[in-house]
Amino acid sequence: MPGPVSESSRGPRSTRRQNVVTCVFCGHEYPTGTPRTQAKLLAEHVADCPKHPAAAFKRRAEAAEAELVSVLTLSPEKIEAGAIAMCNFRAGTDWWEHESERRKQEYRDTFVAGAVALGFRPPA
Ligand SMILES: [Zn+2]
Repeated sequence: MPGPVSESSRGPRSTRRQNVVTCVFCGHEYPTGTPRTQAKLLAEHVADCPKHPAAAFKRRAEAAEAELVSVLTLSPEKIEAGAIAMCNFRAGTDWWEHESERRKQEYRDTFVAGAVALGFRPPA
């Protein structure tokens, strides 16, 4: 019954590199250490590797998330536009300028309440 492959039967390259964990995408290497530690290091590296596809997906997801937060966060400009749209829908085109400041604020508050109910975030 043959025993396990001995060190001497392996090629010099594989012997030399058996304890080195390498990122196949950018070539970043982690030298000797316990395999578990190396695997953890590699996993951490992959998250920020300049060439690993998973890292590129992560960066795109983070950018999309930031864009989504930006779109879903109410700004004073969005609130004003929403309030004017509500006013004009209910009272008629260009009626906004004829409303009192109290009614304008009611439209703003109503717009914000509806938008927040839909998942928008109020301004910071
Ligand atoms: Zn890498």
